[in-house]
Amino acid sequence: MASAGVVNIRRDVDDKFYRYKMPILVTKIEGRGNGIKTVLSNMSDVARALSRPPSYPAKYFGGELGALTSMDEPNDKYIVNGAHDNARLRDLLDGFIDKFVLCGSCKNPETDLFLTKTEDIFRDCKACGAQTGVDMRQKLTTWIIRNPPKRTKKKKTAENAENAGEGKEGEDGDKGGEGSDDDEFTKRIKAEAAELPTAEQAAASGVAGLSLDDEGSDEGGDSPLEALTLWIEENKSKDDGAGLTPQTIMDKTAELGIEGKHKTVQTLVESLFTENVMTELKKYMPVFQKAIGSEDEKNQRNQKSLLGGLERLVGVNYPQLVPVVPKILMEFYQNDVLEEDIIVQWGTHVSKKYVGKDVSKKVRKAAEPMLKWFEEAEDEESE
Ligand SMILES: [Zn+2]
Repeated sequence: MASAGVVNIRRDVDDKFYRYKMPILVTKIEGRGNGIKTVLSNMSDVARALSRPPSYPAKYFGGELGALTSMDEPNDKYIVNGAHDNARLRDLLDGFIDKFVLCGSCKNPETDLFLTKTEDIFRDCKACGAQTGVDMRQKLTTWIIRNPPKRTKKKKTAENAENAGEGKEGEDGDKGGEGSDDDEFTKRIKAEAAELPTAEQAAASGVAGLSLDDEGSDEGGDSPLEALTLWIEENKSKDDGAGLTPQTIMDKTAELGIEGKHKTVQTLVESLFTENVMTELKKYMPVFQKAIGSEDEKNQRNQKSLLGGLERLVGVNYPQLVPVVPKILMEFYQNDVLEEDIIVQWGTHVSKKYVGKDVSKKVRKAAEPMLKWFEEAEDEESE
């Protein structure tokens, strides 16, 4: 596309004979007002020089800038919402290169990324042979896990280092392993969840023609949901989450044009709650009371979505919360967010919509005390 000069992949190396070069990142600000955006004109050329999919640096920019990214791979279009200074983006690219490209040991850029079974990301250096882990607190790691590098090969060494002591378990044995330790359980459900297409992946594969203008026009577009997730994550870590109140959350969903949508409810469950879910439930309950709405149809769909978010929350992100599932359900029930019929329907039907089948079963099994409680309540009534 745009022709520009080349620079050293490591811009801190001031050596014109440095072997590793990349095209200098070219960006262009287009549009105005609310529609203003920054086009990453040669993102794919730069990414090729780094042996990374162009979505990685593009997504990284979005994450660092707290801005929406729009990626249309078939048409080679990568856009960050808002007006961003070229120098700033080049600096951010340096950060991306440092964290996700350069070998952690010798700083050579000839590396491949790969995922371990436990979903840690490693850089495999062709120059020195070191395998160095990526900081998994980086936001981009979620995107990489969901959109793994094409040439992912599971490397024995790092895996062994990661899962020392594993290997005693067969691939599909352990059927009655109710009491198996959390580590194995976590590993298993993570592996299962990784096989499932996520909403983000589905959106990425059908992304052709996605433009910033039609975001929010239907529930299929995930970008406002991503923006919501980002916003929540940022505010969670600031001042102990002081900026996250039911009101600011509702204002944000309204601003993004996704209030009352069922995917919004799922996203809220997945992003607001942590291992402190019981405290957080009390704090954020009004958001869910509002989001469930009152129209019957919408109401049910949103409740189901809430339960789907819960499956992902406890099944994928916080497996330690599985035993707390009945308490969570009860809290939603007593606050008129979830209805008995919906909980019973959900609890008695395993579904692969949100998580793998085994995880789905596990979560529902954990919910049994709640279902029993409903049954008993009913028996008492009829007596
Ligand atoms: Zn190296």
